[in-house]
This record gives sequence, structure tokens and C-alpha cells, in this order.
Amino acid sequence: MLRFWDQLWKNEREFFDSGKAEFRHGTSFVPVSSIAEQFYCEYKLENEFALGEIPTEAKDSGTALHDELMPTEKITKEEFADLVGKKEPSLAVLGLWGPSGRLKVVGVPDHVIWSEGRPLWVVELKTTKGDPTPLWEDQENQVRIYGLLLERMGFDCSMMQLAVVRVKSAELSDDEKKEWILKVSGALIEGKTKWLEVRYPGRMKVHLLQHEPAKAEKAIDSKAGYWLGEREPTSSSSIGKCRACEYNSSCPKSLFSPSPPV
Ligand code: SF4
Repeated sequence: MLRFWDQLWKNEREFFDSGKAEFRHGTSFVPVSSIAEQFYCEYKLENEFALGEIPTEAKDSGTALHDELMPTEKITKEEFADLVGKKEPSLAVLGLWGPSGRLKVVGVPDHVIWSEGRPLWVVELKTTKGDPTPLWEDQENQVRIYGLLLERMGFDCSMMQLAVVRVKSAELSDDEKKEWILKVSGALIEGKTKWLEVRYPGRMKVHLLQHEPAKAEKAIDSKAGYWLGEREPTSSSSIGKCRACEYNSSCPKSLFSPSPPV
């Protein structure tokens, strides 16, 4: 097993050493979260590069809640290998990387459950103020691509499944937040996610997906032309998305005109 990890860290170094600002906006590696954002609105990503990220209350409270629900502590590579190698399921995340088609893709999933060096579950947490029931294309593809990268890195993904957990952010008590990650992990391992939805009625939906690498590759492929400079960014055809978008007052493609301040 030591050989596996040594080889993995060596491959990781070589992958990152190969970066050469070859993609759109001079990027060397394409983040999984950016590919996911392309499924929402590609022009939003373009605006982020051109105008910088605009902080919003939703983003700030979402980040704070992420940290509260899934607190992490940094460990060494050796500690990581020891932890995830145990038979007893363990919870640990690492940076993922790998080539897909003509892109070099990188990202960090929210949560991974391991046993004997194998990923069992890859989990993305998505907070919402609205109804957690729908699963959006960007959310599905994000978790699928993390699954693909784990496989590309050489992990045995034969038992791996994927989950997107959507939770209504404002409605969890402090006690529920503290126990949240252990409860969700336990329910996934024991196949009792319906129980979670009963326990948090209307506030949580666990979307389960099979790991299907071909779907992840297809998702990346469909967005690669933007990064390779082969086409211009597409923009949203939904006025609702533009209404909710923090760039709507400056975006040349916006379908919604906010009222000027009085
Ligand atoms: S305003 Fe509309 S078109 Fe422009 S970035 Fe936002 S969602 Fe996309």
C-alpha cells in the first residue's frame, strides 16, 4: 500500500509541474467548481474573471454554514493515508486532480467517506433558502466529476457512490449543526438516507447517484471549448437566473434590468 501512496504523490507533483497557463484567462488547471458554474451560466464565470468575484450575503452565509457543518483540520499526507486505510469508515478530503480530454481538472470535494483506502461516498453539500428537492445540473455534474477524478488518481472506486445533500440553511439548530456530518455519514453508510429526510422534514434532501465516469467525461467535454478558446461563452436564457445574479447590473448579456437606486 505504501507504494500506492508514494506513486500517487509523485504523480500529483508531476501533474502540477505540468501546468503552463494554456487555458482561457491564462489558467493552468480548470476547477471543478468552475465547470459546474458553466452549467448555471457560462457568462457568470466570464464576469468573475473580468470583474472579480462579487461577495453576496448568500455566498457568505453559505460558506460559514459549510464550515460549521463540516469542520476540518489539516493533517499530513502520511496521516491521511493511515486514516483512510482503516477498515472502520473514516471521513477525510483531499485535493483531486487529473486530465480529462484536453483539460487538466482540479478540485476539492466537500466530503469523502473511506474504508481500506477506497472511497465509499463522495458528498457535496449545497445550502439553499428554497426547496431542497430539485437536483440541478451543475450540482449533479460537480459531484460526478469529483468521482471521475478519484478514479483517474488510481483509487479503487468499485464501491463508490455519490450524493448531493441539499439543506435549507437557516433552519438547523446549533445542536443539529454539530451532529450533522456524523448523522449524514452514518445514514449514507447504513443506507438510511430516507430516515434523514424524515428527521429533517422539508429541510433536507439527499440526492443519490451511481458513479458513472462516462457521464462526468461528457459533462467536462461539453464545456471544454470555452477553456480551449474555441468558442465564446454562452449566457443564461432564464430571466430568473439573471434576476438572482450578482452581475445583473453590469453583465452585457443580462436579461433583467435592476431598477436604478432612488
Ligand atoms: S446576468 Fe444573466 S447572463 Fe449575465 S452572468 Fe448573470 S445569469 Fe449570466
